[in-house]
Amino acid sequence: MKYEPGLPEPLAARLRAARRWFVLTGAGISAESGVPTFRGAGGLWEGFRPEELASADGFRRDPARVWRWYRWRRGIVARAEPNAGHRALVSLERQVEHFSLATQNVDGLHERAGNCNVLALHGSIMRARCFAGCLAAAQDEEAQPVPRCICGSPLRPDVVWFGETLPGELLEQATVEAGHCEVCLVVGTSAFVHPAAGLPIAARLAGAILVEVNLEETPLSPVCDAVLHGPAAIVLPDLLRCLGLLREPLPGSGV
Ligand code: NAD
Ligand code: ZN
Repeated sequence: MKYEPGLPEPLAARLRAARRWFVLTGAGISAESGVPTFRGAGGLWEGFRPEELASADGFRRDPARVWRWYRWRRGIVARAEPNAGHRALVSLERQVEHFSLATQNVDGLHERAGNCNVLALHGSIMRARCFAGCLAAAQDEEAQPVPRCICGSPLRPDVVWFGETLPGELLEQATVEAGHCEVCLVVGTSAFVHPAAGLPIAARLAGAILVEVNLEETPLSPVCDAVLHGPAAIVLPDLLRCLGLLREPLPGSGV
């Protein structure tokens, strides 16, 4: 079934005229690249919930188990390719005057698709750092069940876990971008996890047009100017085509 953007023309005209765009993405945009979301079907791994694995407590309890989970996810991410939704956001970045993209994803697919101005709020699954917090360069040796820092403490994945604060500088930058944008586009996030979920609210309060792309309703939906239901890999190219902002051929568009 072909998705119809169905934006009311006055809203579409305002989007076409907007020069400053801020995009917030979550796991949903990578779903069609084969990277599972946390809250969707198959959200369990070896019977554990992500909250039990993606936390400092979970790591202290069983660091080898946490590393097994991350290496399994790294494998999925390494085999995944950016999809038409990621590529549409590359086209958007090239078409508009000012573009900033904050993502909660740790898969690096936005960067691999070709977006430049990316704030990876939750880190990168491909990097590691010292669990004790020392700043030594981390050599993540895949052969060890729990890789070690040169200081002797275990290494951990360089991602933000449940209960941890986001890197202050990145969050500050994202907050500034959200507060100054004319359009805030929110894609594939359940909008439950703060502080990222607060960014679209900040944008809305500062007068931005809020557009959401998701398969379902989220807590953000009631305050959005437009809610576009459907898979991001179909909705985003269609939306941008309808706004005249999709200029490049998108091989595999709609996959
Ligand atoms: P989430 O799993 O909580 O929510 C995913 C959202 O995407 C849901 O609202 C769902 O309806 C929507 N969705 C699913 N498939 C979609 C599609 N094809 N098109 C559009 N929307 C779709 O994810 P979240 O909000 O990002 O928050 C969970 C946390 O999990 C984040 O902190 C993130 O770091 C982490 N995480 C990251 C990845 C990744 O890097 N790809 C994957 C899983 C979880
Ligand atoms: Zn160390």
